[in-house]
Amino acid sequence: MKDNKKVTITTETTWKEITPGGIIYEAGNAHNYKTGEWRSMKPIWNSEKCKQCLLCFPVCPDSSILVEDGKIVGIDYDHCKGCGVCVEVCPFKVFDFVKED
Ligand code: SF4
Ligand code: SF4
Repeated sequence: MKDNKKVTITTETTWKEITPGGIIYEAGNAHNYKTGEWRSMKPIWNSEKCKQCLLCFPVCPDSSILVEDGKIVGIDYDHCKGCGVCVEVCPFKVFDFVKED
């Protein structure tokens, strides 16, 4: 077992190879894990309806609202878990919230 080192967990990783209690030793590694696979619901951002108020951006717990040059440009589906917070907070009902395929 590795101590004080980052462990990349895959479907091939055995319990003997993970850290005790699943401890994460290095912060800032969320980007390495494609948590979007957990999603059962999917937010669909409709660009033509968006007023660019940016209210949805800070509330996303997975930093999955993509912003470029101060404007929303889409959703990072590799990391969006489909929690629906962005859907709820948007005052302009921009998002559709649909079942994942
Ligand atoms: S559904 Fe949740 S995780 Fe996905 S973009 Fe919206 S707030 Fe972020
Ligand atoms: S909250 Fe709604 S209107 Fe505001 S930026 Fe997000 S999607 Fe666009």
